[in-house]
Amino acid sequence: MRIDIVTIFPDLVSAVGEFGVARIARERSILELHLWNPRDYCEDSYRRVDDRPYGGGPGMVMQAPPLAAAIREARRASGGRVIGLSPQGAPLNQAAVERLAGEPALVLLAGRYEGIDQRLLDAEVDEEVSIGDYVVAGGELPAMVLIEALVRHLPGVLGNEESALADSFGSGLLDWPHYTRPEEFEGHKVPETLLGGNHESIRRWRLKQALGQTWLRRPDLLEKRKLNKEESLLLEEFKAQLELKGQESS
Ligand code: SAM
Repeated sequence: MRIDIVTIFPDLVSAVGEFGVARIARERSILELHLWNPRDYCEDSYRRVDDRPYGGGPGMVMQAPPLAAAIREARRASGGRVIGLSPQGAPLNQAAVERLAGEPALVLLAGRYEGIDQRLLDAEVDEEVSIGDYVVAGGELPAMVLIEALVRHLPGVLGNEESALADSFGSGLLDWPHYTRPEEFEGHKVPETLLGGNHESIRRWRLKQALGQTWLRRPDLLEKRKLNKEESLLLEEFKAQLELKGQESS
């Protein structure tokens, strides 16, 4: 996958390709990152990309001409759809990540200041994406969040192809709890089932925990997901065991 990022802070965004799964993806030529700085497309020697808002008010607004030039150059090189990072965009979720990961190329546009001249957004941006209902200072970190989320879905990046599917949201549930050595930590033991080596028992235990954690923490996800017979039974078992534990500790 090719991802082009239009940003006035290319050094900040390039860091995402230097670590973890994105670095592995780049080393395996599964991911290509390209950076475009709108300041390189300014006509004035101060390389200004912002100006005061028409109508007055606080802050500055990113100007359309240098952004348009940078985006057009990126689009010409990559052919990708242009995704604007914006608190006003559609909230990013797993379905959107999977859909975008299927694109061969994307151009990500990171805003700064009070935002971007609306005429640029109307003319050049295909879709706007938000990383949540809060505002950060710029679109660089949201772009990096999106890149890390996308990369996990590119074939050949994660060691185990099922890994992204088993993660929270992959199957419409939260992930199950994980444990590693030591077997006992400050008096707390690893659940017995995980030490037994019985693959079917381990599968059922994990599914039960995933259902239970989703029921406890994100019941809204369960409302959207139809449970099969096994899942319904496991969730009932989880609830019964939780109640029993509550009675024992009271
Ligand atoms: N005035 C804008 C508003 O209230 O919608 C906020 C502008 S914000 C300070 C500057 C830039 O940060 C935005 O243009 C966008 O690129 C990015 N940004 C901020 N919050 C974001 C979010 N939740 N999701 C995606 N991008 C965000």
